Amino acid sequence: LVGRMREFGTTVFATMTKLAVDTGSINLGQGFPDTDGPARMLEHAVEAIRSGRNQYPPGPGVPELRQAVSGHRKDWYGLAYDADEVLVTVGATEAIASAVLAVCEPGDEVIVFEPYYDSYGAAIALAGAVRRPVTLRVDAGRFTFDPAELAAAVGPRTRAILVNSPHNPTGTVFTRQELETVADLCQERDLIAITDEVYEHLTYDGVEHVPLATLPGMRERTIMISSAGKSFSVTGWKTGWICAPPALVRAVQTVKQFLTFTSGAPWQLAVAYALREEMDWVAAQRAALEAKRDRLMTGLQAAGFEVLRPAGTYFVQTDIRPLGFDDGLEFAMRLPELAGVVAIPTQVFYDRPERGRHFVRFAFCKKDEVIDEAVTRLQRLG
Ligand code: PMP
Ligand code: GLN
Repeated sequence: LVGRMREFGTTVFATMTKLAVDTGSINLGQGFPDTDGPARMLEHAVEAIRSGRNQYPPGPGVPELRQAVSGHRKDWYGLAYDADEVLVTVGATEAIASAVLAVCEPGDEVIVFEPYYDSYGAAIALAGAVRRPVTLRVDAGRFTFDPAELAAAVGPRTRAILVNSPHNPTGTVFTRQELETVADLCQERDLIAITDEVYEHLTYDGVEHVPLATLPGMRERTIMISSAGKSFSVTGWKTGWICAPPALVRAVQTVKQFLTFTSGAPWQLAVAYALREEMDWVAAQRAALEAKRDRLMTGLQAAGFEVLRPAGTYFVQTDIRPLGFDDGLEFAMRLPELAGVVAIPTQVFYDRPERGRHFVRFAFCKKDEVIDEAVTRLQRLG
């Protein structure tokens, strides 16, 4: 394995899901729902297969999906992207990697908010670029950044900033004010923003998701990324997309065409349908997830964790110190044996793991009875 990839072993999600399977534990680690997306969307995929949409779709994606993404951006955010400014990818993961590979020269720097989703570090390394982490710290019950620290992270080689909101693994949804800080910096220092908005529809307590591209001066320098996995509960379909101005879309497509060229036609067609017709299903799912968040939070509190209230995503952050534990990695590795539950040690998402040492992430995108059983088991810790 080449040197630039040597720090990346097996992803934490594969490791922890295997641990859950091997030990028969309840898996509140890897974030995937245990129920299906909208039934008519599933039917559309089956119908696409039956009607022979089984050969290579066009490289940039099927026109139906590019058009549907364009319409969705307009309806939800008032953002005008032509279908030509939409590129379909193999999930958000390929979109992120292609975007970083398309804009970074070797030695360029990319700002990431730490803890960060694990594929970011690898995508930056593949490009021969260097990550510059800015740590999110807990302030008034939510993870946020210090604007001075963010500004100080930008140097002469900084090319881009990766902005994930709603943020995995903390559950933070950046406020308009936080995004304005990012936007100002991008414009002052001529940075490209790569936004990961896969949880765009999963926000709670009336908190609104604001796409960075809607802020003045940002559309022209933003590569906006999302995916169907979370919005429609089909993480296994790996259907994502970018929206960006023509020069940036072309740059990303130039990379993407040699990574995968294109992706599964039936899923693209079904997602196109869902973006047009199933947004009510998404609204109901959002409400269901908010109730699940509350259910898991209450249970974790009763089990003795300190619990942080996420404004979005599938995840709750907990502090394990009230339970008498100190190291989240050690705790997570022992949790199957202690309680028959799997969770994710948040420290693996940091370049400076000590900053996340006490945190453990639990997923709540599960059936109520699964959450209840996990909570019952976790009471054994007390
Ligand atoms: N970004 C974040 C923040 C995620 O949590 C995930 C996992 N769903 C992804 C990207 C990857 O998305 P996809 O499965 O569409 O590749
Ligand atoms: N996004 C999911 C999580 O954070 C998992 C994605 C993956 O398995 N790579 O749990």
